[in-house]
Amino acid sequence: MKRLGTAIILSGPSGVGKSTVCSFLFKKYTDLKFSVSCTTRAPRPGEVDGIAYHFLTVDDFKRRIDAGDFLEWAEVHGNYYGTLKQEVLPRILNGQDIILDIDVQGMRLVRQSAQSDPRLAASFITVFLAPPSLAALEQRLRGRGTETEESIRKRLGNAAKELAAWREYDSIVVNDVAEQAADRLDAILTAAHARTATCLEEPWLA
Ligand code: ADP
Ligand code: 5GP
Repeated sequence: MKRLGTAIILSGPSGVGKSTVCSFLFKKYTDLKFSVSCTTRAPRPGEVDGIAYHFLTVDDFKRRIDAGDFLEWAEVHGNYYGTLKQEVLPRILNGQDIILDIDVQGMRLVRQSAQSDPRLAASFITVFLAPPSLAALEQRLRGRGTETEESIRKRLGNAAKELAAWREYDSIVVNDVAEQAADRLDAILTAAHARTATCLEEPWLA
């Protein structure tokens, strides 16, 4: 059957475990692709250009804004982050599932774009990944050991704003045990596959 891919928008405060939960999900769904965002922040140790992010200079990022290359972009924690149209649109039209790890501002912008693009509207679902407690969030952010004290404070400050938006999402998953949170995300994706909105033809005629 021909169908549109599902685009899962996954948001949640920095350090909640989005990358960790995604990596469990990728083991189960080998067909699921990650939307590689552009960012102007510096790579963390181990982050490979083109896999974690496309790492751009501020000038290059602005050039791509002017060229209309982004589906959405936003300033997050003092850096630019953006989703390229080419990471998402051709894939969903090809029936490919994709996961976007983007912030609340990005989710709102994609939702806005979907108002003028019915295929995008049909394909995306939104999931908020929440911490089991605020203490656990701070512990994880510090425990990751990738941020300076200044960056940790900025990220914890922004966490309150991100958490306040949880009701704007279709679903919420609490990341208590990462593998179990991935199982719940898996169930949400399985249910999304049953939506009639993404069917491009009657399955019994395919
Ligand atoms: P994000 O992508 O949301 O910024 P990460 O996936 O980098 O967060 O996770 C932040 C830190 O928390 C990492 O050190 C990771 O190993 C840890 N972590 C993620 N999920 C859990 C969990 N369920 N329980 C305990 N630690 C976790
Ligand atoms: P990090 O620097 O920890 O990788 O990401 C910081 C924040 O930026 C996270 O909340 C993440 O979801 C968000 N983010 C990553 N890529 C994008 C993007 O393309 N667009 C938007 N709007 N946010 C993004």
